[in-house]
Amino acid sequence: MKKITISRGDGIGPEIMDATLEILKAAGAQLEYDEIEVGEKVYLSGNTSGIASESWEKIRNNKIFLKAPITTPSGGGYKSLNVSTRKTLGLYANVRPCMSLHPFVKTKHPVMDIVIIRENEEDLYAGIEHQQTDEVVQCLKLISRPGCEKIIRYAFEYAKNYGRKKVTCFSKDNIMKQTDGLFHEVFNEIAAQYPDIENDHWIVDIGAAKVADTPEDFDVIVMQNLYGDIISDIAAQITGSVGLAGSCNIGEEHAMFEAIHGSAPTIAGQNIANPSALIQGAILMLSHIGQNEVGDKIQNAWLKTIEEGIHTVDIFDEEISTKKVGTKEFAQAVIANLGQLPAKMAVRNSPTNINLDLPKYTRKPRKNKELIGVDLFVHWDGMDPNDIGGQLHHIESDTIKLDMVTNRGIKVYPNGFKETFCTDHWRCRFKNTEDKVITKQEIIELLSNAEGKSIDVIKTENLYKFDGVRSYSLGQGQ
Ligand code: NAD
Repeated sequence: MKKITISRGDGIGPEIMDATLEILKAAGAQLEYDEIEVGEKVYLSGNTSGIASESWEKIRNNKIFLKAPITTPSGGGYKSLNVSTRKTLGLYANVRPCMSLHPFVKTKHPVMDIVIIRENEEDLYAGIEHQQTDEVVQCLKLISRPGCEKIIRYAFEYAKNYGRKKVTCFSKDNIMKQTDGLFHEVFNEIAAQYPDIENDHWIVDIGAAKVADTPEDFDVIVMQNLYGDIISDIAAQITGSVGLAGSCNIGEEHAMFEAIHGSAPTIAGQNIANPSALIQGAILMLSHIGQNEVGDKIQNAWLKTIEEGIHTVDIFDEEISTKKVGTKEFAQAVIANLGQLPAKMAVRNSPTNINLDLPKYTRKPRKNKELIGVDLFVHWDGMDPNDIGGQLHHIESDTIKLDMVTNRGIKVYPNGFKETFCTDHWRCRFKNTEDKVITKQEIIELLSNAEGKSIDVIKTENLYKFDGVRSYSLGQGQ
């Protein structure tokens, strides 16, 4: 018997969890449940994290968590429990298989069998946001080398173990040369270590369009957190319904299994939700804990049920389906099919002896870091960049001079265009004119000069060269 943590969640969560647990029991899964309460009730009782500390203990002890979707109340400082669980437990890989069930579920894409591997711990989901001026707020996009290495190696190891032929990387490194540039660079490094697996890269916008148009061209796709969040929903939806896709969140010690959809409060309590996505999550869990046979038994009974046309309302189609059923009845139909195989769709058996070779990250020796300038971010109400540029020359020192001013990234001084719209948030770049190293003390003096001239500096960013390479972006138009 394996003890796991479960939570029934909010909205349609309890209904789809009950259906899933019934199927697990009937299939003979060797599981014991430690149930916890998370989500809306816990949030509304005043706990902004949505989970009590005793529940964390259960999750940490049992290590495996099967979770129904929860509702995160908007506003009010409530932190998403999904995001904090993934990050607190180090669940860095979010694996989302999306497969068409043609011709039994209506889809424009009969040939589709994609696995999206989404980075789960960083990117804009670091949730580091600040209001900096009256007009401008900021969200920090943090991308780390360990984060990239872990998820990209996971994607290639997944492909190797699951007999997949190709790993594709999506990024936006034509614009975000540092953050997405690092992701793409690490992808190229790791791809070279897997010569038997094809690899390619798409800029995320056209890549997403191609997923929606020709998903048959893709196999495994690895991407950062936000792109993965959005594109995996698109991929699941175009197989027929978001109600069909399960997902797992894998870390070095812990793993969490869930549906990719949310708590769908508008259809809650009506016995109409499709429990398939959570069932798929549970199948991924059974494979993860070595109960593959039970997982395969459920998978094949589920495929047979879909093939028989026994469908919940989200995938029901007069021309294809034979019977419209509710959540409970769907689960009963799957139970009745346990032990049977699909007649037309391919029988699915999860691979055994999965051996993901995932070395622990080792930090590389520090690079030679040279400080060559600083960006001062300034809150200023004026409209003419030449005015702020003129004032900033008065705070220069003998060694550090004003290089340029940008507004929302575009260079507006010197020689800006009068057409460029400017907000009250100015990035003012100061550098040694000969690109020579400067000291932090010189930056402190620059800040002190700014203070003396009543220039409202709201933040600074140091400009570095790492091993002689410029490691910050230029101004747009520079
Ligand atoms: P959602 O995924 O809950 O639902 C969107 C729509 O998709 C629903 O209105 C419904 O028509 C359909 N749908 C979703 N699941 C279905 C199913 N199993 N069967 C049939 N139809 C289904 O997205 P939302 O409405 O944007 O979010 C609702 C809440 O869920 C929010 O509070 C959000 O924060 C939360 N959420 C939770 C998770 C999670 O717990 N992992 C994930 C996403 C969203």
